[in-house]
Amino acid sequence: PGHGETQTAPSSAFQTIPNNFISFRRLTSIKQTALDALPGSSWTPLQMNPNLPPERADIVIVGGGVVGWSVAYWLKQKERVRGGVKVVVVERDPTYSRASTVLSAGGIRQQFSLSENILLSLHSAHFMRNINDHLGVLNEDPVDLQFNHSGYLFLASEDVAHIMEENYKTQRYAGAKVSLLTPTQLKEKFPWINTDGVALASYGLENEGWFDPWTLLSAFRRKAISMGVIPCCGEVTGFQYKTNTVSTREGDQVILRRIRSVKVQMPNSLEYQPVECSIVVNAAGAFSGKLAQMLGIGNGPEDSLTGISVPVEPRKRYIYVVHCPDGPGLDTPFLIDYSGVYFRREGLGGNYIAGTSPLEAEEPDTSDLEVDHQFFVDKVWPSLCHRVPAFESLKVSSAWAGFYDYNTFDQNGIIGMHPLVNNMYFATGFSGHGLQHSPAVGRGLAELIIEGGYKTIDLSALDFRRILSHEPMLERNIV
Ligand SMILES: Cc1cc2nc3c(=O)[nH]c(=O)nc-3n(C[C@H](O)[C@H](O)[C@H](O)COP(=O)(O)OP(=O)(O)OC[C@H]3O[C@@H](n4cnc5c(N)ncnc54)[C@H](O)[C@@H]3O)c2cc1C
Repeated sequence: PGHGETQTAPSSAFQTIPNNFISFRRLTSIKQTALDALPGSSWTPLQMNPNLPPERADIVIVGGGVVGWSVAYWLKQKERVRGGVKVVVVERDPTYSRASTVLSAGGIRQQFSLSENILLSLHSAHFMRNINDHLGVLNEDPVDLQFNHSGYLFLASEDVAHIMEENYKTQRYAGAKVSLLTPTQLKEKFPWINTDGVALASYGLENEGWFDPWTLLSAFRRKAISMGVIPCCGEVTGFQYKTNTVSTREGDQVILRRIRSVKVQMPNSLEYQPVECSIVVNAAGAFSGKLAQMLGIGNGPEDSLTGISVPVEPRKRYIYVVHCPDGPGLDTPFLIDYSGVYFRREGLGGNYIAGTSPLEAEEPDTSDLEVDHQFFVDKVWPSLCHRVPAFESLKVSSAWAGFYDYNTFDQNGIIGMHPLVNNMYFATGFSGHGLQHSPAVGRGLAELIIEGGYKTIDLSALDFRRILSHEPMLERNIV
């Protein structure tokens, strides 16, 4: 009992919901409409460099989402210590219509089970608190992330409460301020919650909440450009590289690659411009696995190193915007039910966003970003009503879909150099937490590239070796 799959939505839902949905796809663009739906969003179209990219660069970053621009910013920060670095960011879609960053829920939390993820959140939260010290630009408006301070509230059922306690200890040890609540304490703090089935809850006391993803992306971009990073509008469609065959200790032949140039196809044209470079950063988000394939990664025999692909692919996730005048108020946390269903407040006035991830066997088609409205009725609403009875009267006002940069291996970031392509670095696969970690990930990767090793947080456990050695780093009982 208490799980979304086993409950049914109130029968009135089936008559009222379909008419209340607004299809984002029917309007001019997903990007504009998705952000229009979110009060306070500040999306405006970007000016991208219409010229050809330079013929040479030191570092080419593929993907101008929040991760790519964070890496670019931090590379320029490091340059101050080590001298000039010519950095180009190549982005194929200046409208960001399918980029994960702008279609995300904008949340940041400390509540992970892996210390790397907790530290990434702590560092990123510190960065966001002091954002204008980092991303402020002289004579330009200060950055306002529209940060809503609000704890995440994770609910655990009896069978996993012990894992929540262990996670709590790890989080406290890493420096995160989290508290555990018994069902009675939970009810006292949030009287609108139905505590049936809840054995334990954990609640973030600081450094948690949500913010405007678009503002963070454009602030990174604005600052990086002011520091000399070159933005380029085009699609990376291939690489020129040289190969070198070496033998492993076991006697296997392995082909190593070194990229010499990146092929950048210009918008609305079949022409491409090769950009010679020393280093490539793969920050192509949900499409970073596909980008790696262009180098032959994953194309070798199944049981060989070259047969191991970069396990990142797009997975469609829906976010529903609901209105419920009688729903919980200002102190609403970002609630994650043990069924996997989540919701948080969206502005004031009884608006919320909600969603859940589908079961592996029910992953939707990723050829488009259409929203499945029935998914809300079947998989989201029942758990919402169970946990917050006031949600029985909610109305869905709009919805959108975005792609997770989903790491099929262990749903965690893949950060660092590829062992078979020794000048391609990765920052991808974050699967639902890449936005919040982008400030600290960008910093870490810049340290690795410019200084040859991590200085702030040791992220080496998140590199490719775990994939080659089949040792997944899984979050325990945490979305
Ligand atoms: C519904 C949803 C909710 C989410 N909620 C949260 C949340 O609450 N908190 C959180 O931290 N994270 C969340 N995420 C995850 C987060 O959005 C991502 O992990 C993060 O934005 C990844 O950033 P990115 O820069 O790697 O990817 P993107 O923003 O997708 O940027 C990658 C860019 O690369 C470009 N690109 C791809 N291939 C090429 C190519 N060949 N040439 C040129 N350009 C290319 C794309 O056009 C794209 O703009 C959510 C995601 C979704 C979909």
